[in-house]
Amino acid sequence: MKINNYVKVSSVKEAYSILEGSSKATIIAGGAWLRLTPAEIDEAVDLSGLGLDSIDVNDGFVEIGSMATLRQVEKSDIVKSLCNGIVCDAAEKIMGVTVRNIATIGGTISGKYGFSDLITPLMVLDTELEFHERGRVSLVEFMDETAKIRDILLKIRIPMKEGRGWFETIKITAIDFPILNAAVTRIDGKTKIAVGSRPYKAVLAEMAMAYVDTCGKHDADCAERAAMTAIAEIKFGSNSRGSANYRKQLCEALVKRGLREVMS
Ligand SMILES: Cc1cc2nc3c(=O)[nH]c(=O)nc-3n(C[C@H](O)[C@H](O)[C@H](O)COP(=O)(O)OP(=O)(O)OC[C@H]3O[C@@H](n4cnc5c(N)ncnc54)[C@H](O)[C@@H]3O)c2cc1C
Repeated sequence: MKINNYVKVSSVKEAYSILEGSSKATIIAGGAWLRLTPAEIDEAVDLSGLGLDSIDVNDGFVEIGSMATLRQVEKSDIVKSLCNGIVCDAAEKIMGVTVRNIATIGGTISGKYGFSDLITPLMVLDTELEFHERGRVSLVEFMDETAKIRDILLKIRIPMKEGRGWFETIKITAIDFPILNAAVTRIDGKTKIAVGSRPYKAVLAEMAMAYVDTCGKHDADCAERAAMTAIAEIKFGSNSRGSANYRKQLCEALVKRGLREVMS
């Protein structure tokens, strides 16, 4: 990565006006991922001086500043209180502490990385994103969009609801990228299932979710059929970490396991 001009901004407004003024300006959060890319950045906009790294409860939501590091998220008691701490579980399984001390939740979401372990559990928690210009949008809607963002992600908002949650990621070694990950929640009598690192970006298994909510009994048979529905509706691909067929088999096992955990 080569940076031609570096600006540590003192307000979000200043950061946005630089972004608006040049198509070659790029936001830098932790910079952990950007520094691995060959990109030449004309103007690097550093958000680290804006105090966007707090984790608070506000108006029934856990609000995580976009510059909070994965380590802050992993260690937060507030985040841990959400659905068996699935977001903390996911954060602590990303690389080692040195990377987690640098990489941010905002960089993770803005990048929409297919390999993300964090986006998958956030998708089953009805997460909202707050951008400087656009305002609020659901994470699921944001993940569906293909256009590149030219905005500044300020906060990640998760409703504080009682519920059960489960997350798992399958990796060849603890510090590798995932082969597949999955998250399941049961909140207010509704089930959500997300599958990520397919190797494509995370998606909700909408048909499987609808099936679970129509099951008369939440038993092993319901979990089995929902898992079969999930593998039929989700697209899987192959890469150096695993074939599409292997991912399909992992998905079936993970969805079944997750459902049994949250429905028991
Ligand atoms: C070696 C390595 C291994 C990794 N392994 C895993 C893994 O196994 N699982 C996993 O889930 N993740 C993994 N990650 C990714 C990591 O979790 C982060 O997703 C990644 O580092 C991006 O966060 P960052 O703070 O470094 O973002 P940056 O590199 O600073 O930015 C990433 C992108 O997001 C944009 N951006 C950042 N913040 C904002 C904002 N507030 N508003 C708008 N745009 C913004 C930037 O312009 C850039 O395009 C790994 C990262 C590294 C470096």
